[in-house]
Amino acid sequence: MAHTKFIFVTGGVTSSLGKGIISASLAKLLQSRGFKVTIQKFDPYINIDPGTLNPYEHGECYVTEDGAETDLDLGHYERFSNEPTSQANNITTGRIYLSVIEKERKGEYLGSTVQVIPHITDEIKRSVKELAKRAEYDFVITEIGGTVGDIESLPYIESVRQMKWEMGKDVLVIHLTLVPYLSAAGELKTKPTQHSVKMLLEQGVQPDIIVARTEHPLQSHLREKIARFCNVAPSSVIESIDAESIYDVPILMRQEKLDTEVLKLVNVPVENDLDISDWENFLDKLKNPKSEVEIALVGKYVELKDAYKSILESFVHAGASNEVKVNIRLVHSELIEKEGTDKLLKAVDGILVAPGFGERGIEGKISAVKFARENKIPFLGICLGMQCAVIEYARNVMHLKDAHSTEFSAHTKFPVIDIMEDQKKISDMGGTMRLGSYPCTLKAKTIAFDTYKKENINERHRHRYEFNNSYLAQYENAGMYATGINPKDDLVEIVEVKDHPWFMGVQFHPEYKSTVANPHPVFVSFVKAASKKKEGKE
Ligand code: GLN
Repeated sequence: MAHTKFIFVTGGVTSSLGKGIISASLAKLLQSRGFKVTIQKFDPYINIDPGTLNPYEHGECYVTEDGAETDLDLGHYERFSNEPTSQANNITTGRIYLSVIEKERKGEYLGSTVQVIPHITDEIKRSVKELAKRAEYDFVITEIGGTVGDIESLPYIESVRQMKWEMGKDVLVIHLTLVPYLSAAGELKTKPTQHSVKMLLEQGVQPDIIVARTEHPLQSHLREKIARFCNVAPSSVIESIDAESIYDVPILMRQEKLDTEVLKLVNVPVENDLDISDWENFLDKLKNPKSEVEIALVGKYVELKDAYKSILESFVHAGASNEVKVNIRLVHSELIEKEGTDKLLKAVDGILVAPGFGERGIEGKISAVKFARENKIPFLGICLGMQCAVIEYARNVMHLKDAHSTEFSAHTKFPVIDIMEDQKKISDMGGTMRLGSYPCTLKAKTIAFDTYKKENINERHRHRYEFNNSYLAQYENAGMYATGINPKDDLVEIVEVKDHPWFMGVQFHPEYKSTVANPHPVFVSFVKAASKKKEGKE
């Protein structure tokens, strides 16, 4: 395409309507028509990135190849589009202000008063246009976090207004709203949508397409009503009905012709046919599993599913790939401390110990590893989960009493997990972990090699502590092996144990790289092992 088209996705009425899924679905549809698309998220909070946020605040922190700690919506973007994202795909208000203030200190504003308009809005617009240049995208879809009317999202909406004015048909606004069903009246109500569009209009933005989230089909008279009140064509009112799975949404959006409506409104001819058969195959497998397994996810944020978003989605991909339905039993690690593993992990086909920070629930996680190891239940430990596996082995097999990570016990006699050398001098918390993609070399004839079927891999990281190599020989003598090593600095990235059908602790996060198109081999192989375990049992 001659030049990039910019699509903004705003939200109205309430939060949590699924702007991220709509954005990712549209990206998937446009991609399937042969366009090059990227998706960006603006988060209107003042943190520079979500890396320092507690999962209770915003769910999982997602990590990109280049080591950006980002909003979890970027995970959806990658899972749907199979295209890597980067720091440039997630901008927060904090980051915008930081860069404006840095420029001010350098004297780049030549003595002028630095203001929200034009300086902050220019910086926002620059962030959108810069992303477009990175790979000559046909479309940049920018999701604006929060809800229209929030004070903190005003500069973003103002930037959209300016871009629309400056670039005309090259800019399109999709507004996602809620059309609630009032059961007492037995009716869907369009008034909140009308109000939300009025609010956008007050801020100078006329949406081009309205996507209406609804629990019931949006009959034509309602589409016409929304169209009339909101100054859009009835064909630009798109129904987004509640779906069984987020992966149904691209198909639903295709049925609603969201992609062709977008192309029409930005003056791009609809030339290529849409080929989405890969997606349909995935959905077919997802919905027609041949068997089921149950996997326990042991963590301390299990009451908050968003905290383990990428892990849960990776199981969806791996399940479909194996044609197995993966049922997840969420097990609170603190509850294990109180009630024990026998009761809480009874009869599961696999155990995953989750990543995390801080001491709360750590002994429960270590007990879960012991249970998996001793009962020969397929086990996957991710990051902190891997570190727990290392601690468990030291304590229970190598008899290093009270062995621990120095994260939790600074003066332990056996610091089998210790802070990385280059982390020792760091005092700032934000953006300073070992982050992003690092290479790893796999040893032959291991579960790891069997899983990846190649020697050199790259995986994403987010941690400060590591396997303490001064214990490596002792571990290998006792039957826990380092089967994946960082070739540059010898950091242990994967551990396995002898005499176990499938036991892997990985210092990295495979869940960040699993997509619909490429289910992650670690999850695929783990689910396969869980199925085998189950078959053996029945
Ligand atoms: N807290 C551990 C570390 O910093 C593990 C981090 C994680 O699980 N992401 O090394």
